[in-house]
Amino acid sequence: MIHRYKNNGYNIVLDVNSGSVHVVDELVYDIIGLLDEGKDGAFIREHLKGQYQEEEISTALGEIQELTDAQMLFTEDIYRDAIEHFKERETVVKALCLHIAHDCNLACRYCFAEEGEYHGRRAMMSYEVGKQALDFLIANSGNRRNLEVDFFGGEPLMNWDVVKQLVEYGRSQEEKYNKKFRFTLTTNGVLLNDEIMEFANKEMANVVLSIDGRKEVHDFMRPFRKGAGSYDLVVPKFQKFAASRGEKSYYARGTFTRHNLDFSEDVLHLADLGFDQISVEPVVADEKEEYALKWEDVPKICEEYDKLAKEMIRRRKKGKAFNFFHFMIDLTGGPCVYKRLSGCGSGTEYLAVTPWGDLYPCHQFVGEEKFLMGNVWDGVKRQDLCKEFKNCNVYAKEKCQDCFAKFYCSGGCAANSYNFHGSINDAYDLGCELQRKRVECAIMLKAAEAEEE
Ligand code: SF4
Ligand code: SF4
Repeated sequence: MIHRYKNNGYNIVLDVNSGSVHVVDELVYDIIGLLDEGKDGAFIREHLKGQYQEEEISTALGEIQELTDAQMLFTEDIYRDAIEHFKERETVVKALCLHIAHDCNLACRYCFAEEGEYHGRRAMMSYEVGKQALDFLIANSGNRRNLEVDFFGGEPLMNWDVVKQLVEYGRSQEEKYNKKFRFTLTTNGVLLNDEIMEFANKEMANVVLSIDGRKEVHDFMRPFRKGAGSYDLVVPKFQKFAASRGEKSYYARGTFTRHNLDFSEDVLHLADLGFDQISVEPVVADEKEEYALKWEDVPKICEEYDKLAKEMIRRRKKGKAFNFFHFMIDLTGGPCVYKRLSGCGSGTEYLAVTPWGDLYPCHQFVGEEKFLMGNVWDGVKRQDLCKEFKNCNVYAKEKCQDCFAKFYCSGGCAANSYNFHGSINDAYDLGCELQRKRVECAIMLKAAEAEEE
């Protein structure tokens, strides 16, 4: 399977199955297109003879044949055969998303957690429930040493004492069970202070700072309950936090909606504020919401991705590079079948825990009773659900079969698929369109980087 496209002056050919990327001239680009349509050498020579010299065509055909022989072009799908084995794989729980606080001090318009309540009551996770969750993780992680725990909400800082106690408890169990916890904190920044930053810099491998971009954009979507914006309060704290993290990871994470389709400006605003690890993601919302993205917005969004990619190249050349997470792509990692097929691991390797200890496939399913999988005391009871999630991969999804992005996207988000189609084995079509555009931009950025080098 071949995907050809032009972007920012580059003619790019992606051989989907091998992951090989080729930046080619017009002639090779055209010939690959014709070969992909099933045309043979004789047809191609005849077809292109008015445009190119015969010798040029022969050379190009020879080069294409060499790449094909080297398994870098027109390759077969070798993963399809691995899928049965993949479905039978043993999985262990590697990561938990602890809903440490089902409450929030902001009232973000797009919040899927409904101001932290997740279709349920306001609640804080107790130390006992959190401790049991960590015990559950240790007990269900098999031989895996590195375990991830994300303190999530609502707003986790509203239950900060329990976060600290749980980190302490987790650390106390590491040696005994030969485990290493990697803690992460996601916060809106309202309650951030020096003590919290100091603790987080010592204990949290990553922190996610929720900020949408320009002041008017952020304040409109992320107000306090009484309506005032939160930008002025959180920005200086986030700047200080990010600067104090040193080598440790953080990222400034925002959401764009129909209200800021010119979101490249928000990404650049975050970069101008000094953040160099940035993620600004498309909102996923019911079409009825006024801020939801619509199909008619797709061309504008794609234009914005192109604009952003070009600006990133410009800034990189000026020594002002920053990372935009949705443009990060690994073209060198090699074909690891598990990584390519498994995706986020929701429902199997990754689970969400509610404040009262219930287990769900991930944070997006919390509150959907049919996805209640068990609890931290009795473990996963719904093995049928676990199996369904385990079998959820690009080959299980019809829409993914002909999609060039399938090995970068791994079949998309099960929660989005469920919310839009009532099944985890479908795909959220608008999101897919944007995903494909991001993959194209990401590959183009790699091509530009290689050229600069
Ligand atoms: S972008 Fe959509 S269609 Fe393509 S692989 Fe991902 S989920 Fe499947
Ligand atoms: S199912 Fe979707 S929301 Fe849930 S962890 Fe996976 S990618 Fe994230």
